[in-house]
Amino acid sequence: MPHMHHHEPTTKQQGLRASLLRISGALFVCFALLGSWLVFDLHRAYEKVLTDASYRAMQRSQIIGQSFRTEILAADYVLRDVLGRVQAEDLVFPDPNLDHAQRLTRLLKEKADTVPDFVSMVLFNHDCAFVATVTGENTGVRSKPALCEARKMHQGPGPLVSYVSGKSSASGHSVLVLSRNIVSPSGDFLGGVMSVIELERAQHRFDAYSLGANDTVAMLDDAQVLLARRPLLAHAIEQRVDTPEVPETVRSSATGTSSAVQWDIDGRKRLFGFHKIEGFPFVIAYGFDKAELLLSWRQRAFELGVGYCILLVLALAAARAHWTMRLQRDELMASRATLQELATRDPLTGLHNRRFLDAAVPREFARAQRAGATLAVIMLDLDHFKRVNDEFSHAAGDEVLKALADLLKNGARESDLICRYGGEEFIAIMPGMTTDQALERVESWRKQLEAAPVAYGDLLIHVTLSAGIAMFPEHGSSPDELMARADEMLYKSKREGRNRTSVFA
Ligand code: GH3
Ligand code: MG
Ligand code: MG
Repeated sequence: MPHMHHHEPTTKQQGLRASLLRISGALFVCFALLGSWLVFDLHRAYEKVLTDASYRAMQRSQIIGQSFRTEILAADYVLRDVLGRVQAEDLVFPDPNLDHAQRLTRLLKEKADTVPDFVSMVLFNHDCAFVATVTGENTGVRSKPALCEARKMHQGPGPLVSYVSGKSSASGHSVLVLSRNIVSPSGDFLGGVMSVIELERAQHRFDAYSLGANDTVAMLDDAQVLLARRPLLAHAIEQRVDTPEVPETVRSSATGTSSAVQWDIDGRKRLFGFHKIEGFPFVIAYGFDKAELLLSWRQRAFELGVGYCILLVLALAAARAHWTMRLQRDELMASRATLQELATRDPLTGLHNRRFLDAAVPREFARAQRAGATLAVIMLDLDHFKRVNDEFSHAAGDEVLKALADLLKNGARESDLICRYGGEEFIAIMPGMTTDQALERVESWRKQLEAAPVAYGDLLIHVTLSAGIAMFPEHGSSPDELMARADEMLYKSKREGRNRTSVFA
């Protein structure tokens, strides 16, 4: 019994440690799974937001580009109309025939009036000298040689459309110029007609679109020159800009569309859709503000993150509470066991006390009865102990009691119950012994005590003991009966001269 109590805490501690490991392991796995699912899901949602937005940005840039193209084509229709009404012979400057010149001017004015965006329409000859204009003014003016050269070089079914900055244009305004050539039957450049649209008009058109608060739409030419932008950034208009940078695939295509996330001129990150206007050197860039796109995603990520953390903290708190509770419960149980142990032990000798024996004896008897085993009941009492106390002191007497207790303990098996029953009276209950074995055991104790006086300081105290034995089931069937018989035998030993053992017969 005594050493069982020693093993208990360590196995309990091991059990606790194992369960702590199990709990924290399970928690870790749960939260790792939940966390990775969360990250995976959020990542997927993030990608979806950007994918959807890039699709929409491309769609918008395409719609705006196509509507712009429709307008250029409508303007081109007017150019072709005019071309159908003039002959190569009309391209003379100066025109000696005033009537003829006025007729041409009227024609241009009439046609230009059908297109509100035209600030001017001009007929020019093979030197790019203005033969006739809508206002009748500026005749004789020549386009810059480079522009003229570009016009001469232009081929293909469509009109030539180019951006001409204020520094190079005849009017001093930045303009988009739309021109068509008149070619001789042999393919020589004879001149042509051009219409001039002020760049501001394009800007006005952009201003008419309704955009998100932080969204932008911009038109750039082939050389990354910003031609129009909404919201307007006056300092950047007509400048070469780094951003939005038209992807090469779009720039070099006939009419490509793509998307990219880029920093914008205003320092915000945007998701751009790019669309090249078919047949013309312009690209429309529609930009969604990236932060705005991700606003609700961020909100959701934040909420999920906070939820995750709260869950984690709660789980940790619960685990901690569970753990502390277990520790406390174990401590409580341990201290209860210690108290119980204390209550059933004699403090002087460390042997069980009478209270323990009274509880244990019926159990031992029942067990022996079930197993059909024997039980030796032995009573021991020191002889003339009062004299030891009187002669050597009470403390010396205590020392003798301890020595006898040690002797009994050493000679006992694990299944034996040894207990201090009263002052200097001891009882031993020993299961599974024959009468002879019990007698032999008690006689050995008696002889050892007789042979080895107890040392107390410099003194040697000689003591002896008397004993009585009664056997179950031989000498009685109940604990009380057997205790009474053993007691009887003890007094028989005393009566017969002490320092001896008597067995009930
Ligand atoms: P006998 O049993 O041989 O008839 O004589 P005795 O002197 O032992 O007689 P008795 O059993 O009546 O006396 C018991 C004495 O044991 C009484 C008491 O002084 C002493 N005693 C009882 N408990 C203790 C104890 O805890 N310590 C000490 N030192 N003495 C004790
Ligand atoms: Mg006594
Ligand atoms: Mg005595």
